[in-house]
Amino acid sequence: MSNPAQRATKLFVQTFGTKPDELYQAPGRVNIMGEHTDYNEGLALPAAINFKTVIAVKHRDDNLFRAVSTAFPGKIEQWRFGEEGTIAAGDDWTHYLKCVTAAMNQSGLLAKGLDLAIVGDVPLGAGLSSSAALEVAFGTAISYASQLHLSPLAIAQLAQRGESQFMCLDCGMMDQMISAMAEPDHALLIDCLELESEAVLLPEELSMIIIDLKQGRQAFIQQFEQRKKECSHITQLLGLDSLRDCSLSLLTQSQDLLTEEQFRRARHIITENQRTSNAARALQQNNIARFSQLMAQSQASMRDDFEIITAEIDTLVHMIATLIGERGGVRMSDGCVLALINHDLSDDVINLVENQFFKQTGIEATIHLCSASGGAGRIR
Ligand code: ADP
Ligand code: MG
Repeated sequence: MSNPAQRATKLFVQTFGTKPDELYQAPGRVNIMGEHTDYNEGLALPAAINFKTVIAVKHRDDNLFRAVSTAFPGKIEQWRFGEEGTIAAGDDWTHYLKCVTAAMNQSGLLAKGLDLAIVGDVPLGAGLSSSAALEVAFGTAISYASQLHLSPLAIAQLAQRGESQFMCLDCGMMDQMISAMAEPDHALLIDCLELESEAVLLPEELSMIIIDLKQGRQAFIQQFEQRKKECSHITQLLGLDSLRDCSLSLLTQSQDLLTEEQFRRARHIITENQRTSNAARALQQNNIARFSQLMAQSQASMRDDFEIITAEIDTLVHMIATLIGERGGVRMSDGCVLALINHDLSDDVINLVENQFFKQTGIEATIHLCSASGGAGRIR
């Protein structure tokens, strides 16, 4: 039984002894362009992927939530709306749900309780945003079940605020917005300052391959937090509200206020915003050669200016770039390698990862063949 909706229904019946009323889903995502730009109020260009979290729900008349997940089997977790207790970053998966009800309560929304059975195929902690998929699927379920009529953007905002304020994971808006608002076959150009977005049709000739080198997420997250602090400090030194307000000429004029390293960090954010906007246009115009160049520039900027690329990832990106030339783009994206390439090249890229790259590095990477999917919603 491989269909997640069937598995969620089965888990629900096994757990609660009755059939669910409805099913909801929300997808994971990959970010095509815009690394570390979302929390700097810049531009990002993610796409939802065909891995999703599905929740089977049954309405309750009280304010109790009871939840099980196949990812953490064995125990029915429960809490009441507005009585979430202490929510913190850490190992407790239910905090990703509790932070959503806490944010709703803080906004003066009133929601009835639900029984929930959760299954999904977004890999956890692999940089494909299983956390946002869980939050947004849950927020969507509550919105329907309690007839709150929240827009996808409003659900994304509640989920993001929940995670930032209650779990103290000060994330940007990208993950929740794409999971809530994606359209099939499109990426979404997101302006993280204005919270505006534009669907960008992906060229039909491109395949999406995501390669997970499984290099240890903990070090990656620490580095992410470190860069967030650095960006915030640089913003202060420049006397700005956010790095979104900085141009390359302003940065050059203010060079004396920054160390050489701080200058490079800021330059990455500024040029990455430009590349993100340019990449969206290149994809809309089917200009794959231009897109390819922008992906290569992003990789170089992440490596040389922002210093977030491991040697192994750079090696793989270089190998794939050499193979595909300008018939697609490849870069590191949230700890994975993303290749958006002409369909004809898929087998060659897979072969390269499994053979040439494996022989050179000993790394057995996981390869995900993906497609750009639609956002959260009710399944039935
Ligand atoms: P990512 O979002 O990149 O997958 P995170 O560390 O941000 O990685 O989020 C992963 C966490 O989200 C998991 O450890 C778990 O707490 C929670 N989570 C995600 N999906 C599920 C699920 N289907 N069931 C239970 N918890 C989940
Ligand atoms: Mg996450």
